[in-house]
Amino acid sequence: MSDRTYDCDLVVAGTGMAGMAAALFAARRGLSVVQAGSTGEIVFASGLFDVLGVHPMAEGRRLASPWEGMARLAADEPKHPYGVIAPSRMKDALAEFTGWLEAHGLPYRNGGDSNVRVLSPMGTVKTSWAVPSTMWAGVEALAEKKPCLLVDFEGLREYSARQIADTVGGAWPGLRTVRVEFPGTPMRPLLTGIMGQALELRVTREQLAEVIRPHLGDCACVGLPAILGIFHPGTVLAEMEAMLGVPVFEIPTLPASVPGLRLKNVFEGHIGTEGVDLMLQRKVLDVHRQDGALHVSIGQGSVERVVRARGMILATGRFLGHGLFAERDRIRETVLDLPVHQPAGRSQWHSLDLFDPAGHPVSRAGVVTDSSFRPVDEEGRVLHEDVRCVGTLLAHQDWMRQKCGVGLAVGSSAVAVDAFVAQFSAG
Ligand SMILES: Cc1cc2nc3c(=O)[nH]c(=O)nc-3n(C[C@H](O)[C@H](O)[C@H](O)COP(=O)(O)OP(=O)(O)OC[C@H]3O[C@@H](n4cnc5c(N)ncnc54)[C@H](O)[C@@H]3O)c2cc1C
Repeated sequence: MSDRTYDCDLVVAGTGMAGMAAALFAARRGLSVVQAGSTGEIVFASGLFDVLGVHPMAEGRRLASPWEGMARLAADEPKHPYGVIAPSRMKDALAEFTGWLEAHGLPYRNGGDSNVRVLSPMGTVKTSWAVPSTMWAGVEALAEKKPCLLVDFEGLREYSARQIADTVGGAWPGLRTVRVEFPGTPMRPLLTGIMGQALELRVTREQLAEVIRPHLGDCACVGLPAILGIFHPGTVLAEMEAMLGVPVFEIPTLPASVPGLRLKNVFEGHIGTEGVDLMLQRKVLDVHRQDGALHVSIGQGSVERVVRARGMILATGRFLGHGLFAERDRIRETVLDLPVHQPAGRSQWHSLDLFDPAGHPVSRAGVVTDSSFRPVDEEGRVLHEDVRCVGTLLAHQDWMRQKCGVGLAVGSSAVAVDAFVAQFSAG
């Protein structure tokens, strides 16, 4: 164990979308930040940035505007974390977050006041708010039902243009499909990550355009699975469009996805340039309080560093991220053993109907917090003045069904960081 103790303003536990947003916002506001976690989970993300797509959830009603939806949600479900995130703060936070991604080669486009509709890899239509720019022509094509060619590839098992077209059916009459050989690699089965890497090479792009060109016919755009490069998607997209002479767009694929990989690369590659001291593949192993400060032990199995911090943000996620752990008789928060809002008994964790539109009670389990995301006990008393919880770890939300994953991550992180900045400057 190291005997060195480092000092910083804030430890961020977690390197998913919420942890990255929190570390970014804090560093840009002049706080010194040590961040620990594994970015593995980000590659599971589709790349879409949902703010709020569905409300009321039990009715499965898709929202035309996430901002009007936020106001209604806060009124209908006052305990939802969105109850303490003003839509204006959410907008600013998302603009800052996506602006930073764009500055590092990952531009996003959004629907402004409205949600947008995006084709899913199953051919269903998903409601989201912002999409990677490489998907934008697909949003327009779907909205206008443009004549469109969907392309898939021999040996790519996880994605079928035919399945998408069959599911969309008569709702988009100008949709055609074709299956071609992917030129960049002899590997079978094909994986989207390998295809994305192959398309970083101009020669592969030229070969792919040649393979697709004979099938264009009268189509006004071409849809591909999300494979248009890992590091330079803007360049790959622009060249494919120039060579094919029509707009080209990506359709999200199943996890792990190329858009998720791009996010992971940008975060891992650039968060350090903001001054964040990133300890990747490391965890917060222990936290104790000494002389009024948090002493946070970080390492991989054994303690490698002890950080003395003025505050900590827990962005440790739910079950997949390991922020919550389900024991036989209770759900536990894994870092500080904070109280977790959860159904009374295990038998009540799930509804008998797997596809119950009202969701499952366990999906709303999480840490209950006050208006600046400090954890509270059952009586609402703040448990730790210097700890805030953000992202999917929070209670009283069902981000998957409400379609609010990234909005929750970015909005709660912004509010938590604002509160720390105010707290630290007040001394
Ligand atoms: C399959 C999938 C598809 C998705 N699709 C969408 C979508 O279409 N639109 C959308 O808006 N959102 C989507 N999301 C959600 C989104 O990507 C993020 O998961 C969510 O917005 C925020 O997650 P999070 O950061 O709170 O938690 P997570 O992503 O789970 O991250 C938790 C982090 O905490 C770390 N951690 C845990 N314990 C410790 C510890 N003790 N010390 C340090 N670190 C620790 C983990 O290593 C991890 O880095 C999707 C997620 C998944 C999994």
